[in-house]
Amino acid sequence: MEYIPVLEQDTDDWIKNVIREKEIAPFLTNGCDFIDDSEIEKLLKKHKKPEKQNIRRIIQKALTIQRLEPEETAALLNVEDAGLLKEMFGAAGKIKRKVYDNRIVTFAPLYLSNLCVNDCLYCSFRKNNSAQKRRQLTLKETEEETKALISTGHRRIIVVYGEHPSSDINYMTDTINTIYSTKVRHGGIRRVNVNAAPMNIEDLKKLKKTGIGTYQVFQETYHHKTYEKVHPSGIKSDYRWRLYALHRAQKAGIDDVAIGALFGLYDWKFEVMGLLYHTIDLEKHFGIGPHTISFPRLEPAANTPFNKQSKYKVSDDDFKKLIAVLRLSVPYCGMIITARETAKMRRECLKLGITQTDASTKIGIGAYSERSNKQEGERQQFILGDTRELDEVIGEFAQMGYITSFCTAGYRCGRTGKCIMEMLKKGEEKWFCKMNAVLTFREWLDDYASDATKKKGEIIIKKEINEIKKEKPAVFKKFMAQYAKIVNGHRDIYF
Ligand code: SAM
Ligand code: SF4
Repeated sequence: MEYIPVLEQDTDDWIKNVIREKEIAPFLTNGCDFIDDSEIEKLLKKHKKPEKQNIRRIIQKALTIQRLEPEETAALLNVEDAGLLKEMFGAAGKIKRKVYDNRIVTFAPLYLSNLCVNDCLYCSFRKNNSAQKRRQLTLKETEEETKALISTGHRRIIVVYGEHPSSDINYMTDTINTIYSTKVRHGGIRRVNVNAAPMNIEDLKKLKKTGIGTYQVFQETYHHKTYEKVHPSGIKSDYRWRLYALHRAQKAGIDDVAIGALFGLYDWKFEVMGLLYHTIDLEKHFGIGPHTISFPRLEPAANTPFNKQSKYKVSDDDFKKLIAVLRLSVPYCGMIITARETAKMRRECLKLGITQTDASTKIGIGAYSERSNKQEGERQQFILGDTRELDEVIGEFAQMGYITSFCTAGYRCGRTGKCIMEMLKKGEEKWFCKMNAVLTFREWLDDYASDATKKKGEIIIKKEINEIKKEKPAVFKKFMAQYAKIVNGHRDIYF
């Protein structure tokens, strides 16, 4: 099935019918959304000079895996003292190990279409960027891209779409179904996460039916005025339609949702507060917060002058601080760093609580199967900081003592939403994940690793198996039986 471009007139009609006010109103309190700009500014001002004792109390609270309150996060954001910052960074790493151990989950983004009706000033896919070469993958091309990703060993991907009638819910479900049914020698993609524009509940139900993992929507900026400025037209100019996108997803039954802010549009401390309030409001309505938080930094993009001019660019030091504050503020939430960052930054940030990252990323439409290594401005969204291949990234992680996990068991066993959050808080999920990390890493080492990476990986696997033996003697025998099956060529075995 080929996709025929939609006519201008039909596009206008489509745009008019996307937003449904009645799906926003139920979540408002007295007509207000949960981001009170002046309250956030007030809290940041009130805690401008935080007391050492108070910061240490907050760190201790976070170490018990409790979410922080806005007053507490505001205080952490204002810490300048080098000694205290070191304590915060140390605690962030400790929380990561306590909840998620030494695992890093790895995935790849798959860009399917860069057609877009919106005009986000920072994105080169924006409607008015005439220098952008527009392209939407056909189902055949989607299959080719998927095959290329499977061939490098990826098992989890996130699909990314612009907002456009030709990449509406029907195109999304068709492409996701195509991805799930594409198989290569050792198997296929086992988890498709989605980054797409906010949808209505009816469409979100259709999306859920395809068997997606996480649904991700970034608010970009939580600051109302800035939001208005950087989204001058199109559907995306409606702040609240976007702010409640994940509330609607929960209503539609998608219980793994992911939030994020694009750092560099407004004051980074404000955005961290926004992410916390978003978490709190999701918890208030559904008893469960986001599965992951993302914090992309604004990157240069072709023919996009706005990004060079922004006065809110986040320095490397502030970036590390915001990651540590988020880790402490929402200790049981996954945290994603992407290949927008350089290899060096990624290495440093891993220690501060990162749980997921992408690798061998290509963000040009069709770039995996066409083996395009060029930074092709005219067909990609922004410029990447780390373009290393998956094998090299995994080898480096192993050398640093991290095990790469391709595990997709959680959502296939019903360990999603509230269930997984409760298990993470109690530290129970950690052991399921550890065993599944070893099984999937064994698969990957045997099927895809270079000799050099395999050597480093074997050391980690041995260490992990010894830990499972020591800490979980009751399941060790069963675990080793599964492990032996993988060694003997069975695939996709999990707990
Ligand atoms: N069109 C959908 C949307 O806007 O939600 C799909 C996502 S868009 C292709 C993915 C994300 O890329 C955006 O939410 C934004 O945060 C990020 N992004 C856009 N331009 C960027 C840039 N110049 N640098 C870094 N991230 C950028
Ligand atoms: Fe379109 Fe998303 Fe880019 Fe905005 S960020 S221009 S909505 S693809």
